[in-house]
Amino acid sequence: MGRMSQDTIFAKIARREIPAQIVYQDEDVTAFRDVAPAAPVHILVVPNKIIRSLDEAEPGDERLLGKMLLTAQKIAREQGIAKDGYRLVINTNADGGQTVFHLHVHILGGQRLGRMA
Ligand code: 5GP
Repeated sequence: MGRMSQDTIFAKIARREIPAQIVYQDEDVTAFRDVAPAAPVHILVVPNKIIRSLDEAEPGDERLLGKMLLTAQKIAREQGIAKDGYRLVINTNADGGQTVFHLHVHILGGQRLGRMA
């Protein structure tokens, strides 16, 4: 899963080397609760392989990117927030507010969210 110099905290979570509340995992993706939740439900979906940001995703990642969205859909349903609604966020690079450079989709829900876009 990449050289140590390329490692990320989310890759360590995916490999279960550091603890997290993992809610879903398969051979492609891992989903776990955000350590500092910004909403009653706040879960991150990450690819198991390291892609540093959406800006670094490549055409060959098309299936994996689709899998991340369908995984988010499935988790939102399982968490009971799908009917009332939820928001997916992908912060990208500095102006996007990205702080962890391992691609992740935020699932936010469980309350009415303020409009941003
Ligand atoms: P970003 O700002 O890059 O879009 O989102 C990074 C998210 O990862 C933040 O919401 C932050 O709270 C979360 N986070 C950072 N470090 C950890 C960690 O070690 N464990 C978990 N579960 N979440 C983390």
